[in-house]
Amino acid sequence: MLNPDEALSQILASCTPLCEGQTIPLRAAAGRVLAEDVSSDVDMPPFRKSAMDGFAMSYADLAEHGHPPLTYVGESRAGAPFQGDVPAGACVEIYTGAEVPDDCDLVVMVEQTTREGNLVHIAGQHRVQQNVCAKAEDLAVGKRVKSAGHRLSPTDLSVLAAVGCDPVPVWRQPRVTILTTGDELVPPTQTPGTGQIRETNTMHLAALAERAGAEVDCLGLVRDVPEQLVQSFGEALEAADVVLTTGGVSMGRYDLVADAFLKLGVEQVFHKVAIKPGKPLWFGRRGRTLVFALPGNPVSCLLDHEVFVRPALARLEGASVEAPDLRVGRWNGASPRSGPRQQHLPVTVSQDNEGCDLLTPIQWSGSADIVGLSTATALAVVEAGCEAQSGELLPYRSLYI
Ligand code: AMP
Ligand code: MG
Repeated sequence: MLNPDEALSQILASCTPLCEGQTIPLRAAAGRVLAEDVSSDVDMPPFRKSAMDGFAMSYADLAEHGHPPLTYVGESRAGAPFQGDVPAGACVEIYTGAEVPDDCDLVVMVEQTTREGNLVHIAGQHRVQQNVCAKAEDLAVGKRVKSAGHRLSPTDLSVLAAVGCDPVPVWRQPRVTILTTGDELVPPTQTPGTGQIRETNTMHLAALAERAGAEVDCLGLVRDVPEQLVQSFGEALEAADVVLTTGGVSMGRYDLVADAFLKLGVEQVFHKVAIKPGKPLWFGRRGRTLVFALPGNPVSCLLDHEVFVRPALARLEGASVEAPDLRVGRWNGASPRSGPRQQHLPVTVSQDNEGCDLLTPIQWSGSADIVGLSTATALAVVEAGCEAQSGELLPYRSLYI
């Protein structure tokens, strides 16, 4: 059985980045991956700018003690700069974001001034360049602001807006199709009959895959009948870059999923990973299309998605960061021992007195318990064959990144 690192390397080696560029409105670009480097066409700020409402003046006109009053000669507003010279002994009223006249080298905030007719009295001690933002101090023309492969955050959208990058060149998203198998399952809208349960994996996986950057299509429930599995999986393989199925990959009599994919010409890359929960994962490919047949147990399914599917989606989309780094926290529970598989334990994360992350296990009854899981914010990792002592540092994976 492969360990999780080996399994992930085989998955990533099977991914061919899609590399199909598209141009989309900036408004729709949050979470998308840039297809080209973006450079600035402006200086930011484009001129010497006031950081305050107040008066702009020359430092040479201030005295060490008791400044002489200055003569008001006009104002500089954002969008309407002061025109003309500011002679010695004069000042200009100025507002936040407005251009500082060339003759001035500081701004005194309005709270430290009093105006009487055309005379402006200045209180307090001041420094040259105070409250003046230098031209291009944030960004200079021609400088690269974001690189190809960067996944755009909401803040990045404002940066692209500032440099006039609208529409934005991005890579197209991977198309994911989700199907779920199991004769015992009914949709959330139905009341389960005898021997039935409601289907929960589709909603969970679809939301996770969308958050990982994919465009998701859900084909719903398929019966555990070989012909029906082949029929539905065949349709999914035609349309998708990645097919995700859940259920039917353990060793039971009705675990027919792998056979159906093999019949459709999907080549098996591996079956089973030494990870708990999530061991029965089956991974295959047909041409450039990837198939992840995930176990049906809801928590196994989540874990396999986060550990194996998410990085594959990022690689397909052309993102430079494929998986967030694991963080480290202090174990705050009894001593869990891992068997031959790497174990993942749902925890909440808080801070201890020294500011270290504290990993407290939640009440959880195992890989079907999504109610328990929903109270966790992270999964602590205990390596295969290890026992974690209370107080020991463990890597952990945040569930809501
Ligand atoms: P399987 O992997 O098909 O053997 O299923 C393992 C367990 O997960 C069984 O208890 C199933 O009833 C349950 N299960 C399978 N698929 C789903 C699903 N889509 N939603 C909720 N539970 C499921
Ligand atoms: Mg099943």
